[in-house]
Amino acid sequence: MAAGSAIQIPTRLPLLLTHESVLLPGSTMRTSVDSPRNMQLVRSRLLKGTSLRSTIIGVIPNTSDPTSDCDDLPNLHRIGTAALAVQVVGSNWPKPHYTLLVTGLCRFQILQLLKEKPYPVAEVQQLDRLEQFTNGHKSEEELGELSEQFYKYAVQLVEMLDMSVPAVAKLRRLLDNLPREALPDILTSIIRTTNQEKLQILDAVRLEERFKMTIPLLVRQIEGLKLLQKTRKSKQDDDKRVVAIRPNRRISHGSITEDEEEEEDHDDVVMLEKKIRTSSMSEQALKVCLKEIKRLKKMPQSMPEYALTRNYLELMVELPWNKSTKDRLEIRAARIVLDNDHYAMEKLKKRVLEYLAVRQLKNNLKGPILCFVGPPGVGKTSVGRSIAKTLGREFHRIALGGVCDQSDIRGHRRTYVGSMPGRIINGLKTVGVNNPVFLLDEVDKLAKSLQGDPAAALLEVLDPEQNHSFTDHYLNVAFDLSQVLFIATANTTATIPPALLDRMEVIQVPGYTQEEKIEIAHRHLIPKQLDLHGLTPQQIQIPQVTTLGIITRYTREAGVRALDRKLGAICRAVAVKVAEGQHKEAKPDRAEVGEGEDCKEHIAEDAKPESISDTADLALPPEMPILIDFHALKDILGPPLYDMEVSERLNQPGVAIGLAWTPLGGEIMFVEASQMDGEGQLTLTGQLGDVMKESAHLAISWLRSNAKRYQLTNASGSFDLLDNTDIHLHFPAGAVTKDGPSAGVTIVTCLASLFSGRLVCSDVAMTGEITLRGLVLPVGGIKDKVLAAHRAGLKRIIIPQRNEKDLEEIAAHVRQDLTFVLAGCLDEVLNAAFDGGFAVKARLEHLNSKL
Ligand code: ADP
Repeated sequence: MAAGSAIQIPTRLPLLLTHESVLLPGSTMRTSVDSPRNMQLVRSRLLKGTSLRSTIIGVIPNTSDPTSDCDDLPNLHRIGTAALAVQVVGSNWPKPHYTLLVTGLCRFQILQLLKEKPYPVAEVQQLDRLEQFTNGHKSEEELGELSEQFYKYAVQLVEMLDMSVPAVAKLRRLLDNLPREALPDILTSIIRTTNQEKLQILDAVRLEERFKMTIPLLVRQIEGLKLLQKTRKSKQDDDKRVVAIRPNRRISHGSITEDEEEEEDHDDVVMLEKKIRTSSMSEQALKVCLKEIKRLKKMPQSMPEYALTRNYLELMVELPWNKSTKDRLEIRAARIVLDNDHYAMEKLKKRVLEYLAVRQLKNNLKGPILCFVGPPGVGKTSVGRSIAKTLGREFHRIALGGVCDQSDIRGHRRTYVGSMPGRIINGLKTVGVNNPVFLLDEVDKLAKSLQGDPAAALLEVLDPEQNHSFTDHYLNVAFDLSQVLFIATANTTATIPPALLDRMEVIQVPGYTQEEKIEIAHRHLIPKQLDLHGLTPQQIQIPQVTTLGIITRYTREAGVRALDRKLGAICRAVAVKVAEGQHKEAKPDRAEVGEGEDCKEHIAEDAKPESISDTADLALPPEMPILIDFHALKDILGPPLYDMEVSERLNQPGVAIGLAWTPLGGEIMFVEASQMDGEGQLTLTGQLGDVMKESAHLAISWLRSNAKRYQLTNASGSFDLLDNTDIHLHFPAGAVTKDGPSAGVTIVTCLASLFSGRLVCSDVAMTGEITLRGLVLPVGGIKDKVLAAHRAGLKRIIIPQRNEKDLEEIAAHVRQDLTFVLAGCLDEVLNAAFDGGFAVKARLEHLNSKL
């Protein structure tokens, strides 16, 4: 080929001095430029030049160029690479510098240095003939075998790499297309070589020498690769072996490749399949599972559905299809457990035992679901727990309060993101057996919403005819719930959907009397709290009078939950004292020992609850046991929250005490009335329901029609009570909604007091529905109401005659404290409510006039 067609580099080249890296012809290098000479070269030659020639520079390797300007030019390497500056990038951070991208063209030799400043320029001689790059035929003849050998090694090396990487495939093509003599330089810059070796290659100007020097480098690289691949393979084998030994354990190894992970996962799937096949799930479920696992095997792991399906299958395997605990029901033992765990609640315990006895005899669970209905804290949940204990079954509580989505019960379909099974299936998974006791807590607080009616979903769960094939939307196969013993609790039956109520047998759990509460506190709550706080009876003593004090002055509830909390507060306070005392005992101090003895004397005095002692006692270092008296109570719990005294609210006409029933137990309720000039309006306040409003109208009508009989007149002296008069009736507390007919007698009494100007007895409370004719009809919740009156310290209670039978439920000691007036009509109510009776005066007058 003619020399004229070859690429010629200029004979005068500006020199870029590099220290770290060596640029070989045919390769590209990025180099950072920050020495003053090199920076000058970039600025005044590369950035200002406009022709292609001006972008050609000479790169001189292995030359450390000092960064300070004044220094002389160092010794230059004799041979360099002429290069094309392809890209210049400037930056100011952290100091001004350029980054150059240069591509090597050919070797050159410095003949003479023409100038040194501001950057060196030299006269050079081109060493490689660039025309060879464009025409490769001649070289084969010249170098023959050597180049052939080199080529083979090069091919072998490239083929050891991953050909699926595009860069490798391109390199493989280049090997065939490039002239052979360009290969040593190019491959040397690709394979792993030191700068020194590269420098040697650069210095090997003769082609033959260059081939000879590069072949060992290639061979070295090939051997290195072989070794690497061998060790990697053996590690893979090792890992597989580990997977085989512990197939279901995930191995997190830094060097595990994706393939290996997939393999491991495949193993997991196989294990899962095995588990499915060996599990005791129903035939239908097995079919579904096997179908799903088939799909899972085909699915790539990265698919979101993969995780979903796998979770589903894992749940299916975990569910207790056939696993149950053995019932060990023995009625006598059950009675003992129930008695030991709970004081009082005789009716409830009796019914529970009956229920269990039938179960024992019939050996199946078909029958109504027990539903305990009563105020909070009366032990409904804990009776449920005891039932599980007596049966030797697992216990699981499902809180239904506020549940408004039927998927909560029945699960979400698996098509939804984040779908999961409902609470029933989840509960079964948690307990791990298929015959637990499930306590459906607060069924009365189920709500409805757009997401369906959870009560309707519960129907299927609770129906013994249906629940052997309960289908959760998530599982999508039937699960047999017939072995599960369901018990429900509620505060009131009023808000339980009728269909649900129909499937349940309601057992009322009324509130406790003060005496029962004291017993419960001493038998159960105090020992439990002592245990919780790490105290012993040797360290703290709570006498019964104190418990009574807590019950009457610090709590007003039907159950014992607040009482339990107050006892907890006392235990906490005492625990601090005991811990302090222990600390001091560890370092006995004379003065403190003396004080301790003092304290003992104080406590001995305080043992009588009425005795007056100083609250400061508690601050003294405790000498065991610490006795909790009224002063200690006040110190720990603060001033009493409730006052026993109700009589002072009854010191003017127009006030009467009624008895109300709420889901939280019985309550006493003040009814207030006032009259003012007006146009005969009746105003009712206190968030009353319709039935209660009607009771108020009934009461007014009855009084108006009987005003003459009783000589009742309004402020203007008229027997027509609404004549020029407005009446206002108020039922505190104003923010609590009230309804029901049982306030009728109270309203009549209250108004009778208002119009007669007489005071209602301060110790009398009443309940009863009225009719227009003045009859008193029976009402519900008598036991709770009576207990509330007893709690409030009232003495006389007026109840409808037909409620007499309900009095039997009330404990004898409560009955002893109270006088019951059984009223059949309003005359009797009024007679009992006022001191000295409420005589009918009209008839006397009538008789008089006759005389
Ligand atoms: P509920 O479910 O009715 O709201 P819980 O069952 O949670 O009430 O009872 C609250 C606490 O009162 C529990 O610690 C329970 O042990 C205790 N308790 C309630 N009634 C009794 C009782 N009759 N005997 C012993 N402990 C009781």
